[in-house]
Amino acid sequence: LTSQLDLYRVLLMGAPGVGKSALARQFMTSEYKGTYDSTTPEIIEPERNVNVLLDGKESILHFLDEEQLTLLSLLPSTAEIIEPERNVNVLLDGKESILHFLDEEQHPNFEAEDLPIDAYVVIFSVSDSATYNAAVHSIRTLREEHRTNKAIILVGNKIDLARQRRVAKHDALKIAKKYDCRYTETSAALNHHVDELLVGILSQIREQISPS
Ligand code: GDP
Ligand code: MG
Repeated sequence: LTSQLDLYRVLLMGAPGVGKSALARQFMTSEYKGTYDSTTPEIIEPERNVNVLLDGKESILHFLDEEQLTLLSLLPSTAEIIEPERNVNVLLDGKESILHFLDEEQHPNFEAEDLPIDAYVVIFSVSDSATYNAAVHSIRTLREEHRTNKAIILVGNKIDLARQRRVAKHDALKIAKKYDCRYTETSAALNHHVDELLVGILSQIREQISPS
């Protein structure tokens, strides 16, 4: 069904309250309507994938209709259904991939788990400089201590709170450049730039895997 698709795991990081859950929720319901050309990303069928872990091997089930839901009841008892709502299919430049989102708060020891992570999305609130400092610390740790060269996307969320802004865009951009990250500003509350972030994550992952 979807075995030809690449599945990438994305870890959502950031201090409590910055909007990790809100962003994940928006990702899961993200979709574009209208017509597209090759440069326009299309996000499709957000809720049709279920990750199934069976005998230590994870696979994706893509459900087309009600009948296929009965497959779940046929799984042996060692089967585990994990976080069904955490996959998003993204079609970019004619190629479809699946992004699987993990929340740092549910995976506090991601280093110790041998889950391969393809991208780190490090979120802060532009209205809270403590969360920004924490994000910078996380990025520095990833690059300098863990020595990862995986895709890292720094996200300044809550830009709708314009009058409470405490973190300047140029500061965040400077840090992002220093640590070879992409920087995006979003409002999960207003669903502003969330689709762009989703597509940006996938393009960063692909760029990291096979630089053009
Ligand atoms: P998490 O702890 O990082 O998962 O943060 P949540 O997603 O639970 O969000 C924490 C609080 O911030 C909730 O009350 C959200 O409604 C709110 N929030 C999340 N994103 C935004 C945003 O973009 N703008 C505003 N104004 N509030 C937001
Ligand atoms: Mg949360």
